Amino acid sequence: MVDVAVVGSGPNGLAAAVTMARAGLSVTVFEAAHTWGGGARTAELTLPGFSHDVCSAVHPMALASPFFRAFGLERRIELLVPEISYGHPLDGGRAGLAYRDLERTVASLGADGPAWRRLMEPLVQRLDGVIDVSLHGLVRVPRDPPAAMRLALATLEQGTRAWRMRFREEVAPALLTGAAAHAIGRLPSLAGAGAGLVLAALGHAGGWPVPRGGSQAIADALVADLRAHGGHVAVDRPVADLAALRAETGARAVICNLTPRSLASLAADELPIRYIRKLESFRYGPGVCKVDFALSGPVPWSNAALAGAPTVHLGGTRAEMARAENQVLAGGHPDRPYVLVAQPGTVDPTRAPAGARTLWAYTHVPAGSTLGRAEAVTAQLERFAPGFRDLVLAVHTTTAADLEAYNPNCIGGDISSGAVTMAQLLRRPVVAPEPWRTPAPGVYLASASTAPGPAVHGMAGWLAARSALRHSFSLPAPDLSPR
Ligand SMILES: Cc1cc2nc3c(=O)[nH]c(=O)nc-3n(C[C@H](O)[C@H](O)[C@H](O)COP(=O)(O)OP(=O)(O)OC[C@H]3O[C@@H](n4cnc5c(N)ncnc54)[C@H](O)[C@@H]3O)c2cc1C
Repeated sequence: MVDVAVVGSGPNGLAAAVTMARAGLSVTVFEAAHTWGGGARTAELTLPGFSHDVCSAVHPMALASPFFRAFGLERRIELLVPEISYGHPLDGGRAGLAYRDLERTVASLGADGPAWRRLMEPLVQRLDGVIDVSLHGLVRVPRDPPAAMRLALATLEQGTRAWRMRFREEVAPALLTGAAAHAIGRLPSLAGAGAGLVLAALGHAGGWPVPRGGSQAIADALVADLRAHGGHVAVDRPVADLAALRAETGARAVICNLTPRSLASLAADELPIRYIRKLESFRYGPGVCKVDFALSGPVPWSNAALAGAPTVHLGGTRAEMARAENQVLAGGHPDRPYVLVAQPGTVDPTRAPAGARTLWAYTHVPAGSTLGRAEAVTAQLERFAPGFRDLVLAVHTTTAADLEAYNPNCIGGDISSGAVTMAQLLRRPVVAPEPWRTPAPGVYLASASTAPGPAVHGMAGWLAARSALRHSFSLPAPDLSPR
């Protein structure tokens, strides 16, 4: 018997569990899979000795997250912060490099350097305010209205056809669009521009780190703290019915690290029909096809500076990426797709045997696609790193359909657990001051489908747990710092 049951052990589920356990409550997390961590797991997907991040790999949002700052993540695991946050090759050996130093980036962007500074400097200068807007969701009044205004203005420019007016050359707009395409949607779009600008600003300030040993380190740090405060994780425990779970555990609060669609199915008898309809109208976005490589050595980039960037965006010019992304939205598989690449070996030698490397890559595909994209991803790598193919020792492909089978929160392979549009950032999954609290007493929703949205930041879990402490237990938010 426990006070709190958490369904799902993703970063948000674990953040909620830790918060409840720190408040002195007994907590059990029920996880459907064999291991905990959800989108923060690391495994030998290709060959023995090669550790691959199964889902998330790069963590600017974890570094910026108010939850992880309170939790003291940086004191518990090693977050390796590179000098180059992300890079973007173009044909002819050209490349854009976003340094963790705005001025150095400006200097490297030639004629477009000053325009990049005018766009990014106002955001970097008020970074805490920008983080506040993006990581508390669009559900409350911003703490720093001038920062919110700067982000809104920049988003209006870069999220509409006005994006053509800022830059004169090809490198700077491609560099920014590579970050905007993380949102997986139409280009240009307000949601993509907002996400890209926040990620770019973080790239010039905190940085885009990778955890030593892989993303599993983040989940393991959360589980270690949970256990230290009396909590448990039960793996291989899929939950199909919330009422049965409550009867089994006696939990006064159930925090669901699930999508709205799963919640509607698990709690159909407890939720009012009007709320279920809202959950069912929540939309999911395109999927991804993930391709992991075991390599005999580092990627032979045409532009050697890219060897220092753990994150590299492939897809060519801004226009080429916009065409590819819009083709995915229309149900197609582009010949030359946008590809997100992580080469963690740049900063972390623990991922592969001496001299060898792992390479993490994914590309966007229509929802539910069963098509393997290893060849299209390899062709993009070969385009910007001739000779890449010769290094490949093994390849592991996860289609969008496979991804949903691996984690039911990735509906149709949607790694954001819900389309990232402006409407769905406001309504994630409903418009409410506390969108984590459902109409069923003691039932809370905490996942990337809830505010503030996707990425490994634990904010939805933390905010849902605080809501549960307040409404179900009349308890204040606890201290989370390492003791
Ligand atoms: C391929 C890929 C790459 C990504 N790259 C990055 C990145 O580099 N950086 C970044 O910040 N983010 C990245 N993300 C996004 C990030 O991983 C997610 O936004 C984040 O993990 C969401 O956390 P969550 O806790 O809401 O849910 P999840 O991490 O999805 O975890 C949900 C958990 O709930 C479990 N579950 C579901 N249904 C049930 C049930 N009925 N009973 C019991 N358990 C259940 C699942 O098995 C899973 O373990 C990536 C995601 C993917 C898939």
